[in-house]
Amino acid sequence: MVSARFRPAFQLTQAGCLHHKSCKFSHTARPNERPMDRFLNRLPEWPISPAKPSFENLEVPILGFENPCGYAGQVTGSANERFALGFRRLHCVLVLIFVALASVEARTGFAWGPEGHKTVAILAVRYLRPDALAQIRELLGSESMQEASLWADDVAHSSRTETAPWHYIDIPLSDSRINLNRDCPQGRCVLVKTEEFLAVLPNPRTTRESRREALKFVLHFIADLHQPLHCEDNHDRGGNAQDVVFQNHPDNLHWVWDTGLVQEIDPEPHRLAAVLAREITDSRRAAWDQGSIRDWVLESHRLAQTVAYAHLRLAETPAIDRAYDQHAKAVVKLQLEKASVRLAYVLNMRLGSLEVRNPSSY
Ligand SMILES: [Zn+2]
Repeated sequence: MVSARFRPAFQLTQAGCLHHKSCKFSHTARPNERPMDRFLNRLPEWPISPAKPSFENLEVPILGFENPCGYAGQVTGSANERFALGFRRLHCVLVLIFVALASVEARTGFAWGPEGHKTVAILAVRYLRPDALAQIRELLGSESMQEASLWADDVAHSSRTETAPWHYIDIPLSDSRINLNRDCPQGRCVLVKTEEFLAVLPNPRTTRESRREALKFVLHFIADLHQPLHCEDNHDRGGNAQDVVFQNHPDNLHWVWDTGLVQEIDPEPHRLAAVLAREITDSRRAAWDQGSIRDWVLESHRLAQTVAYAHLRLAETPAIDRAYDQHAKAVVKLQLEKASVRLAYVLNMRLGSLEVRNPSSY
């Protein structure tokens, strides 16, 4: 996790959002004020005049209860009493802010969360041929594939913010075709960048450092493009602005698919990989070991249309009910399995020995 993300929600702005898909708490960009935003918007100005407390109409509509710090009603008594009361109430508010921000951090995710990316990398190792695996080890050195698979998200939020749009493609949910001019401006999207970095991997004219970086992007992007909400946009920043209730907690649809559902299946990547491996039969692998990056993006897009959004109830803040949860978890498992098999597939093609490569197949 990146510590830079731990910023007070009220300081986040559209300009401060480094990653389209993780700007879930962008204060100015959200179409509807969230309960937390309403709370922060109504905080009293500092300093507070002892003689004129300004909290009377403050609402605290979070955590399922209202006005926990007693801000309703008239404040009476001497100036000192009013000041003491105001101070106690302010202390109460600050405690609530701390609790709420801790909750915000715990619920903030990038792309697939680390659990999803690590799981894909762990699983992919099973399907790598020894010659490809040897090349990967040579490029990564002491870094494991699962650690390397997280790097692209880390740099998108720190030293390489220009790479943030490379993690997704904004194909409108209402369309079923890719229009690169519309969905991938200047080639800055997960479809084009994955193809570009795949081309770098076997190129003997590129430096080792370039190939190493390309490998780390590929490890990450093949997983990202199997997350349905990374391949669509419904005027909601890929589901980041679609509020939902998940496990009785206010959240957004993108986070649910990136992290919430994966954690529900199993938050421990090695255990999750072992469970998923049992479902990857030879015949399934054969079926998944084909197609192009574009095909896989469109497959994810269709899942966004037919599952992620189609099964949402038409409420302003739909609840993720049991039926949705079960259906979505099955899709998440399938997509993680496909991503791992296909990651190995493209790496075997690009890094395996020349005689068995078949670049025309993707
Ligand atoms: Zn990502």
